[in-house]
Amino acid sequence: MAISSSILFCYLLFSLISNVASSFMYSDDRRDVLFPQILKEEAVTRLDELGKVSDANGYLQRTFMSPASVRAGNLIRQWMEDAGLRTWVDHMGNVHGRVEGLNASAQALLIGSHLDTVVDAGIFDGSLGIITAISALKVLKSTGKLGKLKRPVEVIAFSDEEGVRFQSTFLGSAALAGVLPVSALRVSDKSGVTVLDALRENSIDIAEESLLQLKYDPASVWGYIEVHIEQGPVLEWVGFPLGVVQGIAGQTRLKVTVRGSQGHAGTVPMSMRQDPMTAAAELIVLLERLCKHPKDFLSYDGRSNGSTLESLSSSLVCTVGEISSWPSASNVIPGEVTFTVDLRAIDDAGRETVLYELSNQLYQICEKRSVSCIVERKHDANAVMCDADLSSQLKSASYAALKRMTGETQHEIPVIMSGAGHDAMAMSHLTKVGMLFVRCRGGISHSPAEHVLDDDVWAAGLAVLAFLETHV
Ligand SMILES: [Zn+2]
Repeated sequence: MAISSSILFCYLLFSLISNVASSFMYSDDRRDVLFPQILKEEAVTRLDELGKVSDANGYLQRTFMSPASVRAGNLIRQWMEDAGLRTWVDHMGNVHGRVEGLNASAQALLIGSHLDTVVDAGIFDGSLGIITAISALKVLKSTGKLGKLKRPVEVIAFSDEEGVRFQSTFLGSAALAGVLPVSALRVSDKSGVTVLDALRENSIDIAEESLLQLKYDPASVWGYIEVHIEQGPVLEWVGFPLGVVQGIAGQTRLKVTVRGSQGHAGTVPMSMRQDPMTAAAELIVLLERLCKHPKDFLSYDGRSNGSTLESLSSSLVCTVGEISSWPSASNVIPGEVTFTVDLRAIDDAGRETVLYELSNQLYQICEKRSVSCIVERKHDANAVMCDADLSSQLKSASYAALKRMTGETQHEIPVIMSGAGHDAMAMSHLTKVGMLFVRCRGGISHSPAEHVLDDDVWAAGLAVLAFLETHV
């Protein structure tokens, strides 16, 4: 089902049951299958505890291999061991906890998320995925099922996803997936410390060859799943605690430079101006119109078919986040204006179609206004689709978890797109991936205001448990 129709469908159904989904009621006789002490109370306490492990005073910040990251890793390791997992830290600082189950040579299920944070972060981004996985395995240990897993299960707390320190995301997961270039080890932070130095400062002696050895053998891995806060408002809007991720959007970043004729703000008549600022304003409004209503701009021809248009209508998002002008003075008509464009969509071909149409119309506007325009493509990343089987298993697990909690049969679990990148993107180079999103208040993330209801933490833990139980 296309995302827009599924969201609408979900909204119609779930708005009716949102009160039920927001406030789970359970009777004492179901406590034995709900494990509230481990999956809710302890998980929430641990999220709070991990949220206090920070390099900064008064706000949360943990960057790659910082003292707080190392302390957080140690804490996670203790919790992994408490859940019955064998633990180690690899040469990129990733923390692993593994249980072999009945067959140590079977393909392993990997479950992960990141332990680093942005600056002034919330406590759920990354940590939620690590803690729900550990908690679910701890439940299996408490019920004597941990050793009965049909395949090894490995929880991985990745050392770097946000890329705050070295501006290069996925250092941890890309290394395991074998897609981290050796040159990444020589990148420096603001104080000139390289990735290699940061690891060595923490007694991790990595050589370029050991980076290559970190790559997992694809034949040894069954798949990768990740639980993450949604970081957007859709689940809250549809009134549902969990959603299955259809895929992670592809992204293009552009830099647009508009050059006109610099002049005196008081002396050049309006009819004689070649003003790059007003041209940029028109281009930005064009971008908004195109991304809000792609169907009005794109037609069913060789470039775009019906399904492309449908997926664009529901997933396309465009942002101008940075703008600057020269010479940037209140009494000067600027000579040059530059701005960035961040354009994301789940459909790579659709993204190309939009970019083609955008540049066509953009150059027409520039010509009409007698300014020159240069569009530079600064960054491209293709979309990553989640595996259909893994997604349907995560859907069934979420369904089972919510049924256990409410005692009621739930309707369809929402299927949504991720506009943000995740470790699953890097892991998709190694194995099939699936993701589960957890509702967050107001869709807010990368902020201390980030919040997930205790019951939603619990629902996520129960869903991971239900997923694991299919591997027992
Ligand atoms: Zn994250």
